[in-house]
Parts: sequence; C-alpha cells; structure tokens
Amino acid sequence: MGLIKLHLNSIRIVLVNTSHPGNIGASARAMKNMGLSKLYLVAPKDYPSGVAVGRASSALDILDNAVLCEDLKEAIADCSLVIGTSARSRRIPWPVVDPEKCAQLIVEEGQQQNVALVFGREDRGLSNEELQLCHYHVQIAANPEYSSLNLAAAVMVLSHEIYKFSQQLEQAKQESGDVWDNELATVAEVETYLEHLEQLMIQIDFHDPENPRHLMPRLRRLYNRIRPDKMEINILHGIVSETRRMLNKK
Ligand code: SAH
Repeated sequence: MGLIKLHLNSIRIVLVNTSHPGNIGASARAMKNMGLSKLYLVAPKDYPSGVAVGRASSALDILDNAVLCEDLKEAIADCSLVIGTSARSRRIPWPVVDPEKCAQLIVEEGQQQNVALVFGREDRGLSNEELQLCHYHVQIAANPEYSSLNLAAAVMVLSHEIYKFSQQLEQAKQESGDVWDNELATVAEVETYLEHLEQLMIQIDFHDPENPRHLMPRLRRLYNRIRPDKMEINILHGIVSETRRMLNKK
C-alpha cells in the first residue's frame, strides 16, 4: 500500500461547480477506494454539507483536505498534464483518449509532476473554455442512447483504471529507469508564455483580438500536444520577450 500512495498522491481529481453535495461525498469515497487522495473543488454550489459527509463514509479525510478554488485555472495552475472528461464530442476536435490510455498518461506523468483529471457539472458538463485548458479529453464508452454517467460513477470508472494501471506500473518499474532530463512546463508557465506571445502577435498585426478566428485555442492545442519542458518554454518565452524589446526600441 505504501508504494501505491507514493505513486498516486500527485494525482488530483477536480470537480467543477458541482450542484449535489452527495456527488462530492461519493466521489471522495470512490477516490479512497482506489488509492487517490487529492480532491479539488471548483466553486461547489452547496458545500460544506452534511450530505457530502454522509456519502463519503470512511473517506472523510479526503473531504477534510479538499482544496477549494474559484475557477478551473486556479485548480490546475501547478499541473503539467490535465485531462478533462466529456460525455460527448465538442465543436473543435481535441485529442480524445479512452479510460485505459487516460490512466496510463495520468499515472506515468504523476510519478514526477502534478496531474489533474477534471469532471464537469451534473447538468452541463465542462464548458468549451474549460475543455480547451485540457491536454486531452477522456470519454467513457457507454450506451449511445444514454452515455452520460452520474458524476461520482464517472469518477469511480476513471479512478479504477488509474488503480489498475498503477499496479501494473509497479511491476514494470523494476525494469526501466528512464526519465526525461527536464521537468515538463506547468499550465501556469505555458499560459504566461501564451499571454506574451499573444501580445507580440497583436503588436506585429498578426492577430486581431477583435477577430480572433480561434487562433489562441489552436495555438494552445499545439503547445498542449507538444508538451514543452521548462527549459523549452523558457527559450520560447525569451525569444518572445526579446522580440518585443527590440520592437519597442524602434
Ligand atoms: N450533460 C452533460 C453530462 C454531465 S455528466 C454533458 O453532456 O456534458 C457529469 C460529469 O460526469 C461530466 O461532466 C463528466 O465529468 C462525467 N461524465 C459523465 N458521463 C461521462 C462519460 N461518458 N465519459 C466521461 N465523463 C463522463
């Protein structure tokens, strides 16, 4: 058990704008059953709540340590990998993975960095803006006539995949010791870089904020696909800053 905790404590479950406190409690219980411990609550509608406590059963420690945030960006700022859940496909196609692949990505990267799995509102799921902050989307295959699971049930399915994969990884770890030479950039580092890049693109008339034509979501998708490390994002950031400095001199 000690080993599992070691592997899974940088994995956070983020619940966005949950309406029913019972779902928060049931999610905490599902997490504890599967060896997860870090719960982040983004603007829950009715919390703290006795109903959540009742449904959590022996997972009260997870509720006690839950981190409250105002928005999703705050909840994932120090994460290098974010996977959002979605019961249906969205307008701009995004890389979609199945629950097994999701677990692999989360557990492998969770060995070195903070990673997040994000769940949406009971009635409307995650907004497009929230989904665009994610590197991947995960969809649980289900009855096409009714594919929307209860929130806590979705937390259970994905947490169970994480548990199963972590068990496999423990065995495989004995053989391989491969690690990347630099830590991957966090969401906050990539966001700061993108803000400066956007300023530069406006300055050189490449980007018109009045008529953005999905430029920023497309660039965000590009950087999320590449997954730059800290060194790489520093280099890119330096180039943008230096270009702006030269332009401002003229
Ligand atoms: N009507 C909403 C579904 C909300 S279900 C929609 O169409 O988006 C509440 C939450 O449970 C979702 O935001 C998601 O986090 C999770 N969930 C439910 N069904 C899921 C599925 N099939 N795959 C992945 N996540 C799912």
